[in-house]
Amino acid sequence: MGIDNLQGEGFLTTTLDQVIAWARKNSLWPMPMGISCCAIEMMATASPRFDISRFGSEVMRFTPRQCDVMIVAGTVTYKMSTVVRKIYDQMPEPKWVISMGACASSGGMFRSYSVVQGIDQFIPVDVFVAGCPPRPEALLNALMELQKKVQREQTGDRVHAMKRSSSRNPRHDPGRARPSQGTLSGCHRRYIGVPW
Ligand code: SF4
Repeated sequence: MGIDNLQGEGFLTTTLDQVIAWARKNSLWPMPMGISCCAIEMMATASPRFDISRFGSEVMRFTPRQCDVMIVAGTVTYKMSTVVRKIYDQMPEPKWVISMGACASSGGMFRSYSVVQGIDQFIPVDVFVAGCPPRPEALLNALMELQKKVQREQTGDRVHAMKRSSSRNPRHDPGRARPSQGTLSGCHRRYIGVPW
């Protein structure tokens, strides 16, 4: 049957990469890494008023094995960073990270010896959300931005992403956006087990 004969029958042509990306972007399952006050707004995002299920992301799982997008919401201390990194490592590829709020993205108001000045120091971040705390709409906007990014990705890109994520040094990844402030001191590197 020639393609001309299919006109009017209701068909479309696409590529396998496009179909996979479309399926992935509409079924991003969050790992809710709620650490402090921003988590309250993250929980509100799942409420009927804001309805994150419109984006296929209402299935928040509390096991990293069933998630593909980690939402880090709150102040991350160096002590907690080992836990966040471990949970991130336990998530299967492909996986993405949203940094929600000023504290997760840059340490926020906590310019302190005990607080990590941006989670991109120990995990790769795909989308940063500004605010203290960001409203649920801002988190939904971040999710939509992440969906656009996922839709643009080719399946082969994931192979490179896996290599990047295993490098354990997201700050040296030029393809990732990151805030400017904050560096790990030598003792903090040793504390969270980062080899660089
Ligand atoms: S950004 Fe503001 S609301 Fe969010 S964890 Fe920090 S202090 Fe709390």
